[in-house]
Amino acid sequence: MKKYPIGFLVRDGEKQTTKEVERSIKEVEEPRKSVVEIYFSTRNMTLSYYNDMFNLKVGDLVYVDGKLEGLGGRVVSVNYSFKIKLSEYKRVIAVIDTTLYGEFYLAGSHVVSFNEKIIPYEKVIRWFKAPNTDEEEFIEGNGENRFLLEDLGTMEISSQIADRGFNYYNENRVKYISIDKGKGKAIVEGSEIYELEFEYEYQNGEIINLNCSCFCSYPCKHQFAAMLQLRETLDMIENNYAHEYASYFAAISKNKYIEMALGKNDIGKIILEV
Ligand SMILES: [Zn+2]
Repeated sequence: MKKYPIGFLVRDGEKQTTKEVERSIKEVEEPRKSVVEIYFSTRNMTLSYYNDMFNLKVGDLVYVDGKLEGLGGRVVSVNYSFKIKLSEYKRVIAVIDTTLYGEFYLAGSHVVSFNEKIIPYEKVIRWFKAPNTDEEEFIEGNGENRFLLEDLGTMEISSQIADRGFNYYNENRVKYISIDKGKGKAIVEGSEIYELEFEYEYQNGEIINLNCSCFCSYPCKHQFAAMLQLRETLDMIENNYAHEYASYFAAISKNKYIEMALGKNDIGKIILEV
């Protein structure tokens, strides 16, 4: 019998359109030029930046270019009346979308969503790292490496690296993993944030073309950790939520989920249901 037969279910015409989900889709607002002050807690400093890409509000979390590139900062003031010499200012380059609404299912060390609008990769990756600003060009090979998710021995990974990957998995360093119609993505936290991609063939349980942004030329610990997490999460889904899973799931670590869900709020109410 095949394991993980989930993925065959089709649920047309049953799209979730709850108010929560609608709220999770941030309205695209017209940008409004401003000069903003941004506080960087890791440096305990506040600096001014020019913004012409977003409609920024006090409290927004953002990334900037310049010396503090890569560090997240919080907007502490927004000024619309200004006259500045542009060459003297660095800019706001991204806003971190921290909204988190919708239905989540507990799945071991992670929480899972089956709605692609709730925790899409493009949103979650900004919780961990700034967008790439260099003009570096990335090239992928298509070597068609394949192995069975059920039998990671077929992954051709050395035992030392597998051990380290196992530790990463145990330490809950696979922060995010998702599959969208067979295309998989994962975020693993090592000495920095690594992004992984793969394909999953649910008919035969094969993983194809797994790659990692650490650019190892051999299967790395991040890849092994991600595959262990994928197995755990698919097991959880299969055993508990198979009827919810059509062709998409995304899972984030519970810690990150709690940090994002509760982070901005000092007061409020939490309702837990079973
Ligand atoms: Zn790697």
